[in-house]
Amino acid sequence: MKILVINSGSSSIKFRLYDAEESGEIKEIAKGIVERIGEEISYVKYSSINGDIRYDVKVRDHEEGLSHVLKVLTDKEKGVIKYPDEIVGVGHRVVHGGDEISKPVVIDEHVEKVIEKFSRMAPLHNPANLLGIRAAKKVFPKAVHVAVFDTAFHTTLPEEAYLYAIPYEYYKKYRVRRYGFHGTSHMYVAQKAAEILGKPIEELKIITCHLGNGASVTAVKYGKSVETSMGLTPLEGLVMGTRSGDIDPAIFYFLVKWENLSVDEVYDLLNKKSGVLGLSGTTNDMRILEEEYFKGNPNAIRAFKVYAHRVKKYIGAYMAVLNGVDAIVFTAGVGERSPIIRELILSDMDNLGIKLDKERNKNPKKYGWIVSADDSKVKVLVIPTNEELVIARETLKRTK
Ligand code: ADP
Repeated sequence: MKILVINSGSSSIKFRLYDAEESGEIKEIAKGIVERIGEEISYVKYSSINGDIRYDVKVRDHEEGLSHVLKVLTDKEKGVIKYPDEIVGVGHRVVHGGDEISKPVVIDEHVEKVIEKFSRMAPLHNPANLLGIRAAKKVFPKAVHVAVFDTAFHTTLPEEAYLYAIPYEYYKKYRVRRYGFHGTSHMYVAQKAAEILGKPIEELKIITCHLGNGASVTAVKYGKSVETSMGLTPLEGLVMGTRSGDIDPAIFYFLVKWENLSVDEVYDLLNKKSGVLGLSGTTNDMRILEEEYFKGNPNAIRAFKVYAHRVKKYIGAYMAVLNGVDAIVFTAGVGERSPIIRELILSDMDNLGIKLDKERNKNPKKYGWIVSADDSKVKVLVIPTNEELVIARETLKRTK
């Protein structure tokens, strides 16, 4: 049985195809991306167990984009399926499901309405996710379509963690509250950490740090999310690639006044021109900044120090929320691949029982993904995330 996983953005569709065997084992057999949808020239990139395909072509919309996905998947030579109906389930990553959907669901009219409803809180993501869903339903009409929400894992947050201290009427009127994101990733790495440590997740307190271009921290108590750093939108919390994370809300007011900016312009500035890009004044690519950091470039040093300090502060806060922690997990682009960032974050935390082993930290895989020192009370793990695999598994469950 084949399961297709789709991550649909405003101008791109990322996809992976999985083969689910009788035994229940799921294997990735192809993946790719259709990029620059709606532009003059679009780009299709595909790789599979039978070979790679790349070409430029004009792709007008998501439906056309998905017909290219089907075209490469059924390619005579390099394809992995013969007919579209071999795909029995399509799993969709959806960013915002609000507080209404707490589990992966088969997409019906109601689910589409919920995605639409929360579009105003995730204007960059939800409309694009919906475009992908509607196009996929046309291209794969016989498949079961399942939505897996980034917010779902966080629907267990207690009231004291999800309410903001603004007039309560805005919570009732607009559902202004903390939702949290990256839930699929936080859940996956927390479960993996429990497996690696050989303990049931129901007995563990874990802090998961998803550090990608977007970044968030979650406190996972006995398998449930009880606190997380992103809020109503993915703008809150950590310093990110281009997002500011936490700031004094009054800064918004003063930027409007002093710089004569509109509210839309300030919102854009906080989302797209801030974070490590804003602090360094050069780039949001952490690989480049890392090189510059080691060369002693003050712009990179400044950005890294603020970045790491913010994560450290959240870890400390979440240790208080959890009344101690058994394991800290790093994942996503930066979390998985930047030893220096992990080192800066966890430096000088030995009084809290956290000690990194510098050698292990340089090569987590070699040491079974555990990078803390033997005498560290708190285990530190580096775990590659795999949101697509979770989506594939959840979709498979609902196709039977
Ligand atoms: P997204 O949030 O877009 O899914 P990823 O999880 O793929 O992002 O992470 C992207 C980030 O990871 C980028 O900022 C990139 O610079 C960073 N990154 C990727 N590889 C490395 C590396 N080897 N060292 C440091 N940072 C890296």
